[in-house]
Amino acid sequence: MDAIDIIRRRLKEDRVPDVPDEITEKKKRPREVAFMDVNLCFPCGKCPEFCPVQCIEHLAAGAVSGRGVQPVQDRFQECIGCYICVEVCALLTDYDAVRMYDVNLVEQVLGVTIDDRKPAEYVPAEPYEEYFSEGGGYRHMGNGSRIREKMNAEEWAVIKRAKG
Ligand code: SF4
Ligand code: SF4
Repeated sequence: MDAIDIIRRRLKEDRVPDVPDEITEKKKRPREVAFMDVNLCFPCGKCPEFCPVQCIEHLAAGAVSGRGVQPVQDRFQECIGCYICVEVCALLTDYDAVRMYDVNLVEQVLGVTIDDRKPAEYVPAEPYEEYFSEGGGYRHMGNGSRIREKMNAEEWAVIKRAKG
């Protein structure tokens, strides 16, 4: 079992409603969606690799000033709320840069509708640092990893090896 399998299994045990084992597509409206704190994202490139709907991308050049390689952000209207990026960032990196936000709040703040399908057209990710970063105006759900305290020694050994 590798690190991502451990993360998936523990999230399912923790009753996260939608943690797919394979690459998939949004089929229902999530309760929460992820946002990366673009000021904390290094970016190591790990969470884009593991997002099951492949909705995390590097921001366009110049999106966050003063950054050479731009941080990542997700296209929140495609996000299925699986928490995988939260755990990958918290457990496999030193950055802990991802938090989840209530979809009703996100709709209100950004003036959008989040429904049960991804948008028909590609909508690029934006930084949203004024809303969804440390010191931003809105409250996130939880405080990073929800499985950290639940893992056993064997699982930790695998996670530490994967972190490198
Ligand atoms: S895992 Fe964290 S630091 Fe790495 S790219 Fe994703 S948000 Fe950025
Ligand atoms: S919670 Fe993170 S990993 Fe899961 S779909 Fe959303 S952006 Fe991708």
